[in-house]
Amino acid sequence: MIKKILIANRGEIALRVIRACREMGIGSVAVYSQADVDSMHVKLADEAYCVGKPRSSDSYLKIDQIIAAAEVAGVDAIHPGYGFLAENAHFNEVCRSSGFEFIGPSPQAMEKLGDKNTARSMAIANKVPVVPGSDGLIDNDADAVEIAKKIGFPVLIKATAGGGGKGMRVAVDEQSLSTALSQARTEAEAAFGNGGVYLERYVGSPRHVEVQVIADSHGNVCHLFERDCSVQRRHQKLIEEAPSPSLPEDRRIEICEAAVRMIRGAEYTNAATVEFIVDTDNNFYFIEVNARIQVEHPVTEMITGIDLIKEQIRVAAGEKLSFRQEDVKCQGAAIECRINAEDPDKNFQPNPGRIEKMFVPGGMGVRFDSHVYAGYTVPPHYDSMIGKLIIHRPTRAEAIATMRRALREMQVEGICTTTSFHDKVLQHPEFLEGRHDTKFVEREFLS
Ligand code: ADP
Repeated sequence: MIKKILIANRGEIALRVIRACREMGIGSVAVYSQADVDSMHVKLADEAYCVGKPRSSDSYLKIDQIIAAAEVAGVDAIHPGYGFLAENAHFNEVCRSSGFEFIGPSPQAMEKLGDKNTARSMAIANKVPVVPGSDGLIDNDADAVEIAKKIGFPVLIKATAGGGGKGMRVAVDEQSLSTALSQARTEAEAAFGNGGVYLERYVGSPRHVEVQVIADSHGNVCHLFERDCSVQRRHQKLIEEAPSPSLPEDRRIEICEAAVRMIRGAEYTNAATVEFIVDTDNNFYFIEVNARIQVEHPVTEMITGIDLIKEQIRVAAGEKLSFRQEDVKCQGAAIECRINAEDPDKNFQPNPGRIEKMFVPGGMGVRFDSHVYAGYTVPPHYDSMIGKLIIHRPTRAEAIATMRRALREMQVEGICTTTSFHDKVLQHPEFLEGRHDTKFVEREFLS
């Protein structure tokens, strides 16, 4: 039984977990930095503890402070949210050895899947298609040339410890390969302390499709269908939707089954996202597993009616999933727009500051997950997302129409937000027809 949970995070995801706790009769404990005293996640939790200074390295990443708060509050479990320590296997281990259930996978599963080259090998072992590439890490440039010739240029060099697009480089020919290799290695070494890289064929015009999976400790592994997250800027997702508008039904079944095989093979429990790229012929290739809840989980909740955070908590408590695979049905279409405090007319420059006035849209099919309110000051220290506008309607066309009217209703005064940019994307023929790939935003809006 879990009676009290500490949320090792901030903002909307902390609030999202607090809401699930309240509905389940579970106590909630927030942690916050000095910059977040006025955040709604602090106000709405049953208890809250300050864990340090504004910079995340002085607060939300301070493992000892977070564990101390958990001890003082007497919680049973810790939910890591996304970002910060969510995929830190050491934090996961420390939570458990300090006597707190970690609401996520085991540290071992997290560690294995966190290394992309290992995850790639596990995909191959579980008959999950991967992009043709090197068999392991690249030891020397001569081998790299041989492999690149075999798989065909252009090739993509990827960091095994990679994340957020760091340590990733495209090489178009033999000449550019060795420069790209050393750049990728240096960048990866600096960002992750691990310069290991591997090669993949560069897939042209890819779509990003990912599958939500959740597993309990009784051997039940279920998928909750896919999300399409092809609307990205510099590998950052801006709009996500479910189901994917472009995947044929037979491919959809295959990709979901492949994701389940991957998670079962990794002996993984709790929520995970298996990410794929899909080429213009609808072939899908595994790219990575995210061993945590994701920002875009609400679109899956809307089409399935399943509360993913509550399921995460149940699974962590050792209970079985509350549903079986055959109970999971996809109903209607859901779209999420990430509302960021950024100026879309100034190259998406962050625009923190005080929100003077605010009106949040409502009406049929509208959900807004956010921690901000009129009078709240968006701090400059963290990522710029201030909320997620999520729409669920019977069809994709209706969801787009409702999203457009909700974006118009949304009023935020005092700071710039990305609502006007979303409205432009939602009118673009490529998006309307579901033909867009991950380069769509850069090609159509930023060049
Ligand atoms: P990271 O963890 O650094 O974000 P990913 O492996 O998730 O890296 O890839 C990020 C993005 O890079 C993908 O969403 C996709 O748009 C692009 N990408 C990844 N692998 C390939 C590939 N082999 N060919 C073309 N694009 C790719």
